[in-house]
Amino acid sequence: VSKHVVIVGAGLAGSLLAVYMARAGWRVTVFERRGDPRARGYVGGRSINLALSARGLAGLAGVGLDRVVMEHDAIAMPGRMIHAVDGALTYQPYSSNPRDAINSVSRGGLNLTLIRAAAACEGVSMHFDSPCLDVYLDAPAAVFASQSGHTVRVEADLIVGTDGAFSAVRNRLMKTDRFDYSQTYLEHGYKELMIPSAKTLGMDEQRFGGFAIDPAALHIWPRGSAMMIALPNRDHTFTCTLFWPFESAGGTVGLHALRSADDIRGHFEKHYNDAAKIMPTLVEDYQRNPSSSLVTVRCYPWQHGGKVALLGDACHAVVPFYGQGMNCAFEDCVCLDRCLREHPSDQMAALDAYQRERKPNADAIAQMALDNFIEMRDKVGRAEFLYKKKVEQTLHAALPERVHPQYNLVSFSTVPYAQALKSGRELDAKLERVIAQVPASELEKLGKEAWAKRVVKTFVAQSAS
Ligand SMILES: Cc1cc2nc3c(=O)[nH]c(=O)nc-3n(C[C@H](O)[C@H](O)[C@H](O)COP(=O)(O)OP(=O)(O)OC[C@H]3O[C@@H](n4cnc5c(N)ncnc54)[C@H](O)[C@@H]3O)c2cc1C
Repeated sequence: VSKHVVIVGAGLAGSLLAVYMARAGWRVTVFERRGDPRARGYVGGRSINLALSARGLAGLAGVGLDRVVMEHDAIAMPGRMIHAVDGALTYQPYSSNPRDAINSVSRGGLNLTLIRAAAACEGVSMHFDSPCLDVYLDAPAAVFASQSGHTVRVEADLIVGTDGAFSAVRNRLMKTDRFDYSQTYLEHGYKELMIPSAKTLGMDEQRFGGFAIDPAALHIWPRGSAMMIALPNRDHTFTCTLFWPFESAGGTVGLHALRSADDIRGHFEKHYNDAAKIMPTLVEDYQRNPSSSLVTVRCYPWQHGGKVALLGDACHAVVPFYGQGMNCAFEDCVCLDRCLREHPSDQMAALDAYQRERKPNADAIAQMALDNFIEMRDKVGRAEFLYKKKVEQTLHAALPERVHPQYNLVSFSTVPYAQALKSGRELDAKLERVIAQVPASELEKLGKEAWAKRVVKTFVAQSAS
């Protein structure tokens, strides 16, 4: 008879994991706290859209779901568009390879696709409106509230907690001896706003294919210690996210500081004027939408006795500035599936291999995501940063086998995150040395072609010495 896995949480990770486990021959029972999105349309919850990149796509491809997501839900963003305070635009491609792009996908749409795919697999049963109340680690068994108001206790061979950053399964593990746990909140929170379609705004619909601004980019309004970003949706709207401190500090206005319509409009007209012009519902959105917090969760171990495991945000919630939380969770699914296959008769060994492979990588992306916040909100607007990126991508284009920018490794490859962090830091030091010898003034002096040759020559000479 097939083994039975209980998956707690049918979010992005839990629903994809259900497909993997069913394909591997397990009997799968999924319990989700929220209602069934198939009955209601979309899933509620955080952030309306997300950036899906190579790791997430590899996770989907492992069960043949990448094409359907890309065809029905994705908008490619091959670069970022930086909006200066005066409205000036600078486009930075993410890679010297024009095929490299991150993809804006709807969270609700993707979750729905994954839930439908899981429910269609043989051996999968899904229960909604069923929050997990408790876990018996050694049975293992879990207790859920059911729609009828009763509680049910379900036994299994394996219980996986994919119940997000505030995981009930992790809460139970925290009561065990030598369980490490930390949660760290940023002083910044986030709030979502909206840019409607060109049609709604009465703008030229031809210019950007129905969008008010170019959909082939992730838009960033870097403002030092605060920023706004915007990602396109398939309905020609953009979802904007403010990442501001909750409270005003050091001259930066906090999310809680703006209350009246005049204050909100006035602030946006001063600091985000080009966007304010195309945000007719700005004041209502700002006042109505919640200000939510941003947390990094670290814990270990991720498994107990070969019987209970954590996956996704439940064991490694990261801040969203590298657009990798979901991508990392999908990579977890691939790893857990592989480890269980490699140790078919030893679950303890399988879960141990899984946590030992993933933990250093989860730590690395948590660090890179924190670092990238400073890059996005501040550095991307600075001339020296733009020059460094130009040098980096010039070297990447000329020496693709030798030069691997960290962003490319994280977003366009499945090289382990820990390795991406290490080689990114090494490359950074090398770039500093090249820039010391070929400063930005050389670009104007020499012209683009001669400058690029000089950059490559300097890099090669330094690497050889
Ligand atoms: C503002 C923002 C932007 C982001 N942008 C990106 C991005 O661009 N790219 C990217 O890769 N990642 C991004 N992320 C991160 C991404 O959202 C998460 O990493 C991802 O959702 C993790 O998936 P998960 O399934 O582990 O958790 P979740 O998606 O949180 O799913 C957990 C599920 O468990 C359910 N649940 C919770 N408690 C219980 C319980 N007790 N019993 C039963 N069910 C329960 C919840 O209802 C939910 O359905 C972003 C996050 C935020 C906050």
